[in-house]
Amino acid sequence: MTTTTECLRLESITAGYGKVPVISGIDLRLNTGDTVAVVGANGAGKTTLLRAIMGEIPTRQGSVTFGSHPLADLPTYRRCKLGIGYVPEGRQLFPDMSVRENLEMGAARESSTERTRRITEVLRIFPKLEPLVHGRCGLLSGGEQQMVAIARALMGKPKLLLLDEPSTGLAPKIISELYATLSGLLKSGLTILVVEQNARAALRFAQRAVVVEQGKITVTGSSSELLADPRMVEAYMGMAGMHVS
Ligand code: ATP
Repeated sequence: MTTTTECLRLESITAGYGKVPVISGIDLRLNTGDTVAVVGANGAGKTTLLRAIMGEIPTRQGSVTFGSHPLADLPTYRRCKLGIGYVPEGRQLFPDMSVRENLEMGAARESSTERTRRITEVLRIFPKLEPLVHGRCGLLSGGEQQMVAIARALMGKPKLLLLDEPSTGLAPKIISELYATLSGLLKSGLTILVVEQNARAALRFAQRAVVVEQGKITVTGSSSELLADPRMVEAYMGMAGMHVS
């Protein structure tokens, strides 16, 4: 018999910048091994939601619980240490550093032996990075840089991976490859929450999805339901997502 364990619980969270809340009353639960997509228009509050989970911005109301840990006022690095990996929008890599050095940043608190062991592991997941490991990160293609960003997050051995717009700027074939790699990671029990404007790619990957509009969750459902909903197709699956196979 398999037992279900809760990975992440957001209860009525409100967060933002300055006085005006950007997201409000957000409830979301992910069990271990779940894949959930957050879709929505530009400026809807998707990045803000991930930043609140990571503790990069304070949660004004509500609570975030990771496994059995209430995150409350925990700083971002403590959340990473507990097992939350974050691949931010725009990748936030260090372009002048090598791929290896960028990867090492994802496990900076570990011993050099452990970092090397983990680099070997993440290069097994992204074999295309192997020949590039000593090259400058800034010289890589967009797809390769996204692989480095995900690999860097995996260096922390996360239980939960948060991805912000991983498909931005990438060719459809590369997007398919990236999502195939992410699907492969699920076998190890990873839980994934992905934010995407490219709703079609995200919905094909995730089991469930939520739509965020003006800072609130307005639609929740299985990805197959949402993919078949003409209103969803019209609102969030423009031509950008049509080519992804
Ligand atoms: P996109 O897909 O364009 O990134 P999003 O759904 O991720 O959109 P957010 O980046 O969360 O949206 O932004 C939601 C709102 O919060 C926007 O109105 C944005 O202008 C505002 N916002 C985002 N970051 C900041 C900030 N650092 N300071 C002030 N306001 C911000």
